[in-house]
Amino acid sequence: MLDVSQALNLILQHTSVLPSDLTDLSDCLGLVTAEALKTPHDSPPFDKSMMDGFAVDSRTVIGGSPDTLQVIETITAGTVPTMTPGEGTATRIMTGAPLPAGADCVVPIEDVSFDESKPDAVGISSDQITAERHVLRQGVLAASGSDLLPAGTELRPQHVAILAEFGVAELRVVRRPRVAVLATGDELIDVSEELTAGHIRNSNEPMLVAQVKRAEGTAVPLGIARDDKAELRERIQDGLSCDVLLLSGGVSAGTLDLVPSILKEVGVKQVFHKIRMKPGKPLWFGVRETPGQSCLVLGLPGNPVSSMVCFETFARPMLDVMAGRTPQRNRSQQAVLTQNLKIRGDRPTYYPSTLVRTNNGLTVTPVAWGGSADLRSTALANGVACLDPTPDGYHAGDSVPVQCWDAL
Ligand code: AMP
Ligand code: MG
Repeated sequence: MLDVSQALNLILQHTSVLPSDLTDLSDCLGLVTAEALKTPHDSPPFDKSMMDGFAVDSRTVIGGSPDTLQVIETITAGTVPTMTPGEGTATRIMTGAPLPAGADCVVPIEDVSFDESKPDAVGISSDQITAERHVLRQGVLAASGSDLLPAGTELRPQHVAILAEFGVAELRVVRRPRVAVLATGDELIDVSEELTAGHIRNSNEPMLVAQVKRAEGTAVPLGIARDDKAELRERIQDGLSCDVLLLSGGVSAGTLDLVPSILKEVGVKQVFHKIRMKPGKPLWFGVRETPGQSCLVLGLPGNPVSSMVCFETFARPMLDVMAGRTPQRNRSQQAVLTQNLKIRGDRPTYYPSTLVRTNNGLTVTPVAWGGSADLRSTALANGVACLDPTPDGYHAGDSVPVQCWDAL
């Protein structure tokens, strides 16, 4: 049986970056730029005032203080000056307004003698007037044609703002992976349905859809397929048009675990089945290649915690690579155990845990977990401790590898 890192390597060997799409800026948060961008114009695009005050020409000041200057015009942000201040004159100016030609200094209103009831005059002491004071010159922040963002930038809110500043309303970004989610099982009913004998609600579909969204993918929920060959075949065919098909259930050793055989029938080539991991042993992975399109297929075990952990361990890095991001950035780390823990069995256990960043580094506290069906206990988990089997178990203070699911 493969171990987790071998399985992940095989998955990533079959994974490549998706093509780019011209995308509206408003849909780009979290996506990755597919081309380098240059600034199409200077920033700022004109000489501007950084203060509310009075624009003057420092070269006309010949000493004497304070001096009374005539106010020849008022310029607010968004308007354009028509007058040139010179000897004995000043332009009243607001933050963000264009500096009048000739002016090279803005004296803040706090530093002058000014009476709103006599707006035609202002008293300014000459020691307040120095060239370039509170003036932001055209192009000093970014000259037209300089580098704006390199290809491969994962767009965060500040990048969105920068692109907006330069009028980039749409840009080429690596497109979002489309991820089909298909839950399988005769026992499953929809979230909105009343429980009846022998049935449980389909919690894996909403969970996987949420996990796909958190990984910046587009989820395509396909509902519930019964454990019936014809129905499974049809739903799986639908899902294969996406970049990824996530199935939950039907990959273990039960009489109605039909998924692997149907996947083979419809042309999905198996890469591996079963891994040395707890929870998650029955994981199935394969690829369907057709001309111009390929679909990566993960058959996740139906037990909810197995599905959850397998998604974070295998599907999330896969989606990162497809979207042009570096996989598992910051997600694999060491943390200090806060309590003793016995591990049963001979497979590495991915133990749902609470990870906390403290002044002394990361700590990890395993949740009170009842196994792969115990979904409720994961409410407190924001990751897992990755624990190899050891005869003595683990002790408080041990440093162990962890996988973070959320930003800490
Ligand atoms: P399977 O992998 O199909 O053998 O399912 C393993 C266990 O997971 C069984 O107890 C199923 O009832 C349960 N299970 C399967 N699919 C889901 C699902 N979509 N939501 C919640 N539990 C599920
Ligand atoms: Mg099943």
